[in-house]
Amino acid sequence: LASKEVKKESSIIPITDTLSIGGKQLIVMAGPCSVESEEQIIASAMAVKEAGAHVLRGGAFKPRTSPYSFQGLEEEGLKLLAKARDLTGLPIVTEVVNPETAELVAEYADILQIGARNAQNFALLKKVGQLKKAVLLKRGMSMTIQEFLMSAEYIMSEGNQSVILCERGIRTFETATRNTLDLSAIPVLKEKTHLPIIADPSHGTGNYHYVAPMAYAAVAAGADGLIIEVHPDPEHASSDGPQSLKPAKFARMMAQLRLFAEAA
Ligand code: PEP
Ligand code: MN
Repeated sequence: LASKEVKKESSIIPITDTLSIGGKQLIVMAGPCSVESEEQIIASAMAVKEAGAHVLRGGAFKPRTSPYSFQGLEEEGLKLLAKARDLTGLPIVTEVVNPETAELVAEYADILQIGARNAQNFALLKKVGQLKKAVLLKRGMSMTIQEFLMSAEYIMSEGNQSVILCERGIRTFETATRNTLDLSAIPVLKEKTHLPIIADPSHGTGNYHYVAPMAYAAVAAGADGLIIEVHPDPEHASSDGPQSLKPAKFARMMAQLRLFAEAA
């Protein structure tokens, strides 16, 4: 179902009445890794909206590598995201970590995120395939492109065709960056599938210094959008502070992206 052999024209995934992903416009999703407090998510939402982002990101259920790390505010976090949406008008993307809480997350979210650690959780993929919400599917950290497309297939074969793929970096021998953002996956996927593809240079690099250059490179490689971690106070973030942009740096990156779009 995801194959270009089945459907030649690129899919455009509707998110709200006025926003879709996969068209001509580059879509930017931005916000903190985790929702931490009302003050933090509202400040983040206002800052990313002001800079021109289209979607607010924020994790309420966090799939942490260590069980002792912050696990998220759960439903309280979803409520805070909804509040931020009411205030700014930005639709929200947030992660769903298991089939049991998928419907709860879908009551609040505009886009359901499947994280890298769950990219082959087939029960979860089938569950979101049965829901009527767009799904942002991240590539697993050790997944081939073919396996990535098969995970999309698990969602689509349950009836949900609104799948957005996300390249977020893979495990390689390199340790200078947290992951290796596989830019070549973007043109390869463009050749194989009609689904839109966005890039996540935040998780792809793990270091805020490298986020903007890799964002520009992903756009040059043909990405339909970006997902970027932005935090008002990265030094004190509950998760992923080292890769989070401060609002001013994010705004500069957005201005540069607009210049590239004008030049194109
Ligand atoms: C996230 O988006 O914060 C996240 C946990 O990402 P990934 O699943 O790509 O590691
Ligand atoms: Mn994160």
